Amino acid sequence: MAVLSEFLNGVEQRPITVAGAGVLGLWQALKLARDGAKVRLIDHSSDPLASSASSYAGTMLAPFCEAEAAPQTVLDHGLQALALWREAYPGLVSEGTLVLAAARDHSELERFARMTEGHTTCDAARLSELEPDLGGRFAAGLHFADEAHMATPDVLAFLLDEARAAGVEVNFGVQLAELEEEDSEHSGLLIDCRGLGARQQLPGLRGVRGERVILRTPEVSFRRPVRLLHPRHPIYVVPWSDGEFMVGATVLESEDDSPVSVRSMLELLGTAYTLHAAFGEAEIVDSGSGVRPAFDDNVPKVIVCERQRCIHVNGAYRHGFLLAPVLAQCVADLLAGSAASHPLVDFTEPDRPPLRQPDEVI
Ligand SMILES: Cc1cc2nc3c(=O)[nH]c(=O)nc-3n(C[C@H](O)[C@H](O)[C@H](O)COP(=O)(O)OP(=O)(O)OC[C@H]3O[C@@H](n4cnc5c(N)ncnc54)[C@H](O)[C@@H]3O)c2cc1C
Repeated sequence: MAVLSEFLNGVEQRPITVAGAGVLGLWQALKLARDGAKVRLIDHSSDPLASSASSYAGTMLAPFCEAEAAPQTVLDHGLQALALWREAYPGLVSEGTLVLAAARDHSELERFARMTEGHTTCDAARLSELEPDLGGRFAAGLHFADEAHMATPDVLAFLLDEARAAGVEVNFGVQLAELEEEDSEHSGLLIDCRGLGARQQLPGLRGVRGERVILRTPEVSFRRPVRLLHPRHPIYVVPWSDGEFMVGATVLESEDDSPVSVRSMLELLGTAYTLHAAFGEAEIVDSGSGVRPAFDDNVPKVIVCERQRCIHVNGAYRHGFLLAPVLAQCVADLLAGSAASHPLVDFTEPDRPPLRQPDEVI
């Protein structure tokens, strides 16, 4: 723990470099700067967020719903993270999530209810009360009242502004490799949040394609994300601001980030249209695909490579927005000398070419 204890003892005066300005890097830089560290945040994209998975997210904070397919640790840490988001972000909408199924897929709804907690069952009257625009279309649903959501562009812009205001030096258009070459003799701690960009250093990191479309219509009004269960392609609609809706998302074992396929577009738009016919007249504002970084178990990890003075924070899969505050807190605790036995922390140095030479001091 020599590198970490240098920080702990206040000996280390060099800035901490956070590489990657997706949601994990933004939260990390902000947290450490607010804790008093000198932080530099770099990203190889000159257009902020243009090449991040984060810019494609729906930004649901849905630990209960995600627990249908995710391990318990995602639920446990997701609940902690929700509390941290509520403190940090004034734009958070805490209206919960609605989960629905067509009458013919009612068994899907029953299965979802058995696999999850934190919900109440709604009949048609209750559904109309919660979302008047769905009135009469569905006979039953589940309301997860303690979940929340945000609008992705707004929250990413907020985190970047807050990071700058907290004193983070932000450099876009800078490759980590360039920085390491220029600065190798003086480099301090590196926190690597490059998502799939760190694949060479992290064995087992893979990409999972997610496609989504943004629609705009003044004729539909939802207060909360609505998930429509379906045996083949469960899809959700997240209300953003100004009449915009994010419709997502496919989950495909592929690292292809090319435009949305016709089949996926049909499924996404078909679901929106099933929820409300007025989506048929909506404008298609944007569409695209992001590639989620994931490890084999789909659980994010904080990997400490002490000899290289590097901490990787990666593998956030479908949970990057949800878990970002907990991961940032976990690294901050490590630097403060605790959290060594945190369930998301791994001290096994990856068996891959190092980014930087081992520190001779150790
Ligand atoms: C369609 C879709 C919907 C989603 N919905 C949700 C949701 O509702 N809720 C939720 O919690 N999560 C959701 N996710 C998952 C979430 O988006 C990801 O888990 C998260 O974005 C991962 O963030 P990250 O910061 O690790 O990676 P990224 O966002 O990919 O950021 C990595 C950054 O590193 C930079 N970089 C790469 N290489 C280098 C280099 N060599 N030098 C410098 N910089 C570099 C990149 O430019 C990028 O900005 C969704 C994902 C998708 C695709």
